[in-house]
Formats: sequence, structure tokens, C-alpha cells
Amino acid sequence: MSKKAFKAESKRLLDMMINSIYTHKEIFLRELISNASDAMDKLYYKSLTENIGLSRGDFEINLTVDKDNRILTITDNGIGMTKDELENNLGVIAQSGSFKFKNENADTEKDDINVIGQFGVGFYSAFMVASNVTVETKAYGSDQAYKWYSEGVDGYTITEADKDSYGTRITLKIKENTEEEDYDEFLTEYKIKGIVKKYSDYIRYPIKMMVGHSHLKEGTEDEYETHYELETLNSMVPIWNKSKSELKDEDYNEFYKEKFFDYDDPIAHIHTKTEGTATYNALMYIPSKAPFDYYSKDYEKGLQLYSNGVLIMDKCADLLPDCFSFVKGLVDSADLSLNISREMLQHDRQLKIIAKSLERSIKNELTKMLRNDREKYEKFWKAFGLQIKFGVYNGFGEGKELLKDLLLFYSSFEKKYVTLEEYVSRMKEDQKFIYFASGETVDKIDNLPQTELVKDKGYEILYLTDSVDEFALQMMVDYGGKQFKSVAAGDLDLETPEEKEEMKTKTEESKDMFAFIKDSLGGRVKDVRLSKILKSHAVCLTSDGILSIEMEKVLSQMPSEHNAKAEKVLEINANHPIYETLKKLYETDKDKLKVYSDILYNQALLVEGMPIENPVDFSNKICSLMTE
Ligand code: ADP
Repeated sequence: MSKKAFKAESKRLLDMMINSIYTHKEIFLRELISNASDAMDKLYYKSLTENIGLSRGDFEINLTVDKDNRILTITDNGIGMTKDELENNLGVIAQSGSFKFKNENADTEKDDINVIGQFGVGFYSAFMVASNVTVETKAYGSDQAYKWYSEGVDGYTITEADKDSYGTRITLKIKENTEEEDYDEFLTEYKIKGIVKKYSDYIRYPIKMMVGHSHLKEGTEDEYETHYELETLNSMVPIWNKSKSELKDEDYNEFYKEKFFDYDDPIAHIHTKTEGTATYNALMYIPSKAPFDYYSKDYEKGLQLYSNGVLIMDKCADLLPDCFSFVKGLVDSADLSLNISREMLQHDRQLKIIAKSLERSIKNELTKMLRNDREKYEKFWKAFGLQIKFGVYNGFGEGKELLKDLLLFYSSFEKKYVTLEEYVSRMKEDQKFIYFASGETVDKIDNLPQTELVKDKGYEILYLTDSVDEFALQMMVDYGGKQFKSVAAGDLDLETPEEKEEMKTKTEESKDMFAFIKDSLGGRVKDVRLSKILKSHAVCLTSDGILSIEMEKVLSQMPSEHNAKAEKVLEINANHPIYETLKKLYETDKDKLKVYSDILYNQALLVEGMPIENPVDFSNKICSLMTE
């Protein structure tokens, strides 16, 4: 009988399991029970859809303990495995190939836990407590049973075995106690009962074990005898069918962590029971952190879908809108037929009604959090705010009604995140617009010349730091009837009538000079104007048309040959001494004015955080000024 080696990544994981410093070794039992339950789900589902004639009551999980021989067994009468399945399922972890170590040197405790947490490496956790593991299994409908045996990293063997009925029996040889670790406890009924109650109470099949009860021997006063009884250790009621009053946050959180492989508690749970046009129970969770692959293509959204307690789909994407794709959880509805195929499900009317109603529940929960626990909401926002903003932008603003009141932006007033509702509620009487400014960081935006005058007028500005922000606001057009306006829009209509008059005169007097400057910049700007938005700075860039300079920056990072460009306008501050200098040069030295124009344009680019076209030329021009 030849021994086969584990696939490389499985081997490393195993090694990690065996030498794990992971403190919750007891979770091995939860993992094995969960596998057993899945296997029974599969067979029950098959029975229902193919009329095999098995009923739910036919299924059970059995645990046995043999203290003397240090043996713990877990037996199920689920679907079992064929030889190939045995090889594929237990010889390699995550056949999909999606399993990758995040950290090549996953040797710290935290990494251990993360790997266990994120991938739910189920079966292998047996090696945390067992020195060898035997799996005897017979696939439903097959005549031959097989035995898989392994002592750990060395590899495993598969041989033919005798097993009467279908299903799987897992035999663990529990390790000897060491100075640091007590393994004996996994051979005590009391401890095992406790672990089952704690982690597997909701499993919908009975988990049975012979439990000893000692009592006084009849006719004696100090002699005890033990009699054994087969007990069902779990209550079997799925947590989502229990009433809310029965459940504590802790129960919800435990269930979440084991079911959805997260090491952290969720930030919120939503438990709803709905009757009416659609009848279903839903239990949903908002994770506290974005999974590492959340903002990548690999992430798959979806909720588990049950029909009357039978799992029919693991990740039903149609139940969740993209903007809430971070939600984990499950839906159990009697309205759905077991036989429904994925394709049919997509068009199922009932499913659509449920999805719509879940969307509302999620929004309500977030709104509640925003109102009642701002700190928590900001934590949520940090993890998933980007997704909400994409939700506003995607689908041509389809989601804006749903999402507009969930948005947060950093405020120049409050120096923290505020909602649009809060912004609008404190707008000044004469204020027409919701002002915003875009940039890489809050600090950089705060120093932008364009923000100065608006701030000076006492208006609040929203600081946009994510690339999607401005696109999302453009999609929204307005909030509460107030339009959004970029402080870099050039024409903010902030002047008093006197200032307007003065501006008119100056515009007239500088018309020719500005035309000259524009010419000398040779098409790099669409226009040169007197600025209405600058207060103390000399120059800045604004844009005409719908594409802002910030948006041009975002688009320029996307792989495309002809990226759209903003129509740039060079604005010059008439109240800055440079204005007089330019005027003088226009009369006396046009060549020098050309050099100055070029320098001013480049300065404006730098202030915007844009690259300048010819840094060497720019530097030379400055130097020649300095050595004049
Ligand atoms: P996971 O359960 O996350 O897929 P495991 O390593 O726990 O990962 O199990 C790997 C696979 O082995 C399972 O997906 C299942 O197909 C199979 N398996 C494990 N335990 C059983 C069992 N008791 N009965 C039938 N199949 C099983």
C-alpha cells in the first residue's frame, strides 16, 4: 500500500494545524460536525428532488468516546464519498485553487488564526487534537467503501474498506496530554456536550451520544453505578427560526463567525421574519472589516438560500444588490421550490420580492446605525463606504435614492464626516449650492487656493478624497433640491454687487492682455480669466464643462488611449501684486510676459497636483529669474 503525499499547500496548512498555537482547538468538532451536516443536506436534497424516499428523521450524527483507547468518532449517514472524491477532497485543500496563503511566512499566531478563519479549513483541524485520523466512507448508491488514513504531514493512504451502510465515519486518535496542552478533555462527555452546545446547537440533524448518568446503587448508601443513555445534544432549531428574544448578541456573533469564516464579530446583524407577499426568515450580517478580496474581481456576493431549512444554494447573488454586496447571511423561505434551478431562480418573482425587501431591511439597519451609533457607522463607512459610493454612480444613478442618505463626506466645518442632510440643514440662507472640493487628501484639499474664498464666505465645503466621489455627485445632480458645485468651477457667484462691478471694469481693461497670455500658452488652456474665487493666491486652474480637473486625473489613470481632458481655464487674481506686474509687462516687455505666463501656468498645475509638461524648462526659467 503506497502512501501519497499531500499537495504542497495542504501540507503547509497541515503543518500549521499540527503545530498550531491556535487556542480554540475545540473548533475541530464543530468543523467535523458541520461537514457531516453538509453531507446529510446533500443526500436529503437528493432524496427530495429524486424521490429516493428518505425523510429528514432518517438522518443523524453519532459521537462515541472510548477513553481507554483515546478514540473519538464522528459518524454520519450522509452522502459519503467515492474514492475519487476522497482523494480530491481530503488530499488537497480547496480544489478550486482559490486557496492561497496571504502571507508567505504565515507563522505568527495572528496569521494562523486568519488562515483558519478565512478559509474554514475544516477537516484538517482534526490534526490539532489527533495524532492520526481515519475516514471510512461509502458513497450513497455505491457498493464499495474506502478508508483514508493519515498521521499528518507525511501523507495519507486510501484502501478499500468494509462498511455496511452509506455515510462517513471519522475516527480520531486523540493526542496524549503535554505539559502545555490538555487533550484528555476531548475524551470527556461533559466537555464534548459543551462544545456541541456552543457551536453546533442549530445543526438541523440530531447529534447523538451515549451519555453516562451516575446514581446511587439501589439498596446501598455510598455505592454508585452509571447507566448510559443515548442523548441528543443539540436543540436542532436553526438560529434564524428562533425568536429574537431567545437570542443574545453573542449567539448571533458565534453563529456568524463559524458560518461565514470571520474571526471578528460582525458590526451588526439583521434578523427578520416576514410574512405576506413573501414569507421568509432572514439573518444577515454586516462584517466589521472588508474581506481582503472584497474590492477585487474574485469576491463573490450572495446569501445562502434555504427552502424550509434545506440549503438550496450557497451564494445566491440575486438576493443582494451590488451596493450591499458586503452583507453575509442567509434566507430561508417556504415559498421557493427545492427543484428550482439557478437559471429559473433568476427570473423567480418571489425571489425578486424577497430581494427588494432585504434591500430595505439592510438600508434601515444602516440608517438606524447612522442615527444611533455614529462611531460604529463610521467604522462601517471606512470598510464599505466606497461600495456605497460606487452604488450611487453605477447604473446611471439608479441607486441614488436608496443610498443618498447613507453617504458621508469630510466637512471643512466639522473636521469630520457629515451626511448631506446635515450639510443642507445648516446651509446659510443665501447659499445656493452644496460646495465640494476634490483632492488626494483632506490636508491637500484644505490648502487648495480654490477653497479659500468659499471658506471665507462662511460656507461649508465637502472634501472629496476618493476617485469615485465626484463622479457619484455628478450622477446625483442635487440633494434636497440643492445642486452640487465644485469650488474649482470658476463661477461660484459669490461676489457682492460692488465686487461684480469692479470685476467688469477689470475684465474690460485686461481683455487684450489675457488674450495675449492665452495665445502664448499655445492651446494648453481654453481661456485665461480674472478669478472670482481666489483670495490670496496668485493663480489657479478651473475647468469649463462637465469634466473637472480632478476627474481628468482619475480618467488619466485608466488604461485608454484617448482619455478625455478637462477644459482648463487659467485664472489670475486681480488682487494679487502679480496682476500689476503682468499689466506692466504687457506694455513694456511682451517677451518676458510670455515667460511669466508659462511659469504661472505651470505653478497652477503644481498646485493642482498635476504633472507639468516640461519640468526642466520650468526650472531653468525660474533660475534665470533668480539670477537676473
Ligand atoms: P470544506 O468543508 O470547507 O469544503 P473540508 O476540508 O472540511 O472543507 O472538507 C473538504 C470536503 O470533503 C468537503 O467539501 C466535502 O466534500 C468532503 N467531506 C468532508 N467531510 C465529509 C463527510 N463527513 N461526508 C461527506 N463528504 C465530506
